[in-house]
Amino acid sequence: MINFKNSIGRVTEQVLIAKGITDKNTLDALRKIPREKFVEESLKELSYSDAPLPIGYNQTISSTYTVALMTQSLCLNKSHKILEIGTGSGYQAAILSMLCMSVFTIERIRNLSLKARDIAGKLNVHNITFIIGDGTIGFKEYAPYDRILVTACSPDVPEALFAQLSEGGIMVMPLENGGSQNIFVIEKKNGKMCSNSIAPANFVRLIGKDGFKS
Ligand code: SAH
Repeated sequence: MINFKNSIGRVTEQVLIAKGITDKNTLDALRKIPREKFVEESLKELSYSDAPLPIGYNQTISSTYTVALMTQSLCLNKSHKILEIGTGSGYQAAILSMLCMSVFTIERIRNLSLKARDIAGKLNVHNITFIIGDGTIGFKEYAPYDRILVTACSPDVPEALFAQLSEGGIMVMPLENGGSQNIFVIEKKNGKMCSNSIAPANFVRLIGKDGFKS
């Protein structure tokens, strides 16, 4: 069963609200999903501090604020089908799963994907499909997606991902430009990209055919 105790932790919840996380559904999802289950035992105490944490294989789980900001920016509803690139620990996918109909999440590192799937199963979260592969080419079998979230940083918006976004859909992703990263909210309007930068970021690299090469 999902643990319904207040998993955000009081200080962090206040910090999140002060930093502009006002969407009630996002805050509810953060409360429901126990973040400590997605990190190693030794990092449990730190799991509710608002910091990115290592998850092995040189990858990190984003800070709670970053997860909250990206989730809120997707403007989700229960009918949405979402594609996430960069499963990592599976924490962000679990948060999304509370707020939509289904999540498809792609991870290039097999062991991370398997571990994330295991944790989701233990939390009784069953609307996530875990895919192992290169997320820069998306997953056209289930396209189009109402929302796409990329949780690794890329030099450009991968073409295949934008093609797999529904008309009127929203994509949230960090982009790197001149050595600095920013999170962008990208809308598809009449087939065109309308993008807005919302916050600086610090993500690991999106590595693949249409991302960084290493
Ligand atoms: N959303 C995650 C954190 C992501 S860290 C969480 O909640 O924990 C970024 C992840 O993107 C890493 O696990 C990395 O292996 C993965 N990644 C990088 N390039 C990728 C690609 N081309 N396809 C799929 N996953 C990728």
